[in-house]
Amino acid sequence: MSKVLIIGAGGVSTVTVKKCARLPEHFDEIYLASRTLSKCEALQKECGEDRVKAVFAVDADDKDQVAALINQVQPDLVVNLALPYQDLPIMDACLETKTDYLDTANYEPKDEAKFEYSWQWAYQDRFKEAGIMALLGSGFDPGVTNVYTAYAAKHYFDEIHYLDIVDCNGGDHGQAFATNFNPEINIREITQRGRFWENGEWKETDPLSVREDLHYQNIGERASYLMFHEELESLVKHFPTLKRARFWMTFGDAYLNHLRVLEGIGMTSIEPVEFQGQQIVPLEFLKAVLPNPGSLAEGYTGMTCIGTYISGIKDGKEKTIFIYNNCDHAVCNEEVGAQAVSYTTGVPAMIGAALMLNGTWKQAGVWNMEQFDPDPFMEMLNKHGLPWHVMECDSSPFAK
Ligand code: NDP
Repeated sequence: MSKVLIIGAGGVSTVTVKKCARLPEHFDEIYLASRTLSKCEALQKECGEDRVKAVFAVDADDKDQVAALINQVQPDLVVNLALPYQDLPIMDACLETKTDYLDTANYEPKDEAKFEYSWQWAYQDRFKEAGIMALLGSGFDPGVTNVYTAYAAKHYFDEIHYLDIVDCNGGDHGQAFATNFNPEINIREITQRGRFWENGEWKETDPLSVREDLHYQNIGERASYLMFHEELESLVKHFPTLKRARFWMTFGDAYLNHLRVLEGIGMTSIEPVEFQGQQIVPLEFLKAVLPNPGSLAEGYTGMTCIGTYISGIKDGKEKTIFIYNNCDHAVCNEEVGAQAVSYTTGVPAMIGAALMLNGTWKQAGVWNMEQFDPDPFMEMLNKHGLPWHVMECDSSPFAK
């Protein structure tokens, strides 16, 4: 008997809840809670009360509210699909109630765009002592990209040396400017300074200042920009043979022009300003006027291509492989009424949860995805809508 409590009812959660609802063999009972009860009710209605047993309003910034909810529902696992700000209060509630935990994004303080695992890794001893598990970053990137790397290291290399994670959204949603997941979190991430790992140290670049034009399978060539992404931090820790690790994301000119204007006039700032007698954060206001990422699915065409280029040594010879997935926005919309960015995050969250609940990935403590055997996860990706391919490359598209 497995019971899961999912917190958050936005774009990603919609996919995870619907996928879990279709898999009674993994998820006997689903409970859903979020800030806005009506969104939970709407999802429950779509999935049926026999699958989503009950819905609740909760403020997940408040550890006591989450702990009270966990005590009421008594789940085996809490799946956090709210925002990164809620990671620590939900982990605290899991500790208090001795309940397993999973999320898709690392903790970030609201008043500082700072992305690192230190806050969550600091729970390692307490989770171990309590005999409970936390699985961090079970989305696509982080998530599947970590598993791809572990899979490559296990099956294709004796030692891995160079890692380039590439994330291309080759889709068209027809809007002048929109983000594909929570706008506040997305804009905080892409406006920060770039960072990559090389020869044992982090190197910094100005935001979106390093560009490579890369070819993406079934999409074509796209301008790709070097950024920091959180999985780099755990991957260089867990694969110390890596000489270099970088992350690239594609952006079109129209997107970058909008972003520059918004930045230039202060609309992406997280510093509060006084407006008509109250303090408002410009980025929070911007989120309120941008399209809701969940609403982009209808009419979204094209596909994503996300993958990892890995170079290293096998049997004394240098080689490079690319492991990737293509995900079609329209196909996702047809299946679960969501666009591909929500889908590529929501499905791995479901898979991570299923592997924890059935004991395949199970160990007390706080873990990143690459620390477990990648094979069962890779098998489930193929079965549940995110098939992957391994391409052996003649050479790496990146200079050493
Ligand atoms: P959304 O903004 O669509 O959804 C977030 C949900 O969390 C909303 O339902 C929101 O409630 C709820 N929420 C926010 N604050 C609270 C709170 N204090 N208490 C309870 N519920 C709250 O975001 P997404 O679905 O796009 O993203 C969800 C998570 O997935 C984020 O952490 C994001 O960073 C991560 N992500 C990870 C990716 C990966 O590949 N690893 C890729 C994309 C996203 P309300 O409806 O009231 O606003």
